[in-house]
Amino acid sequence: MATSVVELQDLHKIYDIGGERVAALDGIDLVIEEREMVAIVGASGSGKSTLMNVVGCLDRPTSGKYLLSGNDAGSFSDNRLSDTRGRYIGFVFQSYNLLPQLTAAQNIELPLRYNPRNFDRKQAVEEALARVGLSDRANHRPNQLSGGQQQRVGIARALVGQPALLLADEPTGNLDSRSTEEIIGLLQELNSQDGMTVVMVTHEPEVSAATRRIVTLRDGKILTDEKIDQRVFSGYERSEEPAEVLR
Ligand code: ADP
Ligand code: MG
Repeated sequence: MATSVVELQDLHKIYDIGGERVAALDGIDLVIEEREMVAIVGASGSGKSTLMNVVGCLDRPTSGKYLLSGNDAGSFSDNRLSDTRGRYIGFVFQSYNLLPQLTAAQNIELPLRYNPRNFDRKQAVEEALARVGLSDRANHRPNQLSGGQQQRVGIARALVGQPALLLADEPTGNLDSRSTEEIIGLLQELNSQDGMTVVMVTHEPEVSAATRRIVTLRDGKILTDEKIDQRVFSGYERSEEPAEVLR
């Protein structure tokens, strides 16, 4: 049986803005198994980023339970939480969040400095660069790279610590359609070839179509949770994988 990477039980996140309570997450129950690739979709303000930040241990829920690879993340101290983030989670951002004064290789190496596991850093960075097809750009700074290449660096930085879970919040939100296809293709490969669990937020239907499961949020609640498997597709006389839509 597959191990759950993420298990959320009745998760709430309430923001209090000047006495007004906003339920950014309003009772989320969600299980994500190892090796799944899931898209989180929903209108702006529906809670997608809040969900990703809680799952990514960047933020804490107000109430409810979060089990990360079976560990009760809610009980963790701040130190243990950041330790867990370094050990289990890679995060990819819409605007890449690369440090402009550092080279691609240096940006990728940065999280290894805080990773509790021991790595041969040079080798790990070289492997991550190769994995995203940027071995020949190791010494370029972000402003010497295209948007798609910068996001590849962002993905390499997320991968370099060998996380159990790759989270991406609108990873193609700043990219043109060609770079979007490349980045989604790379995320699909990391899922299908490297066996990574991938959860990504998107509002682009062609991006969510690249996954096998689409979770739709509305007002901090799960509106629908659709698993698309081969049988459904053959039922519609579509023998190709959903991934092929982008190729
Ligand atoms: P999405 O990513 O789907 O656009 P968010 O998770 O960013 O949605 O936001 C969900 C809701 O929570 C929105 O109503 C937003 O205004 C509110 N919210 C998000 N972050 C904060 C915050 N730091 N303080 C107060 N309200 C917030
Ligand atoms: Mg958002």
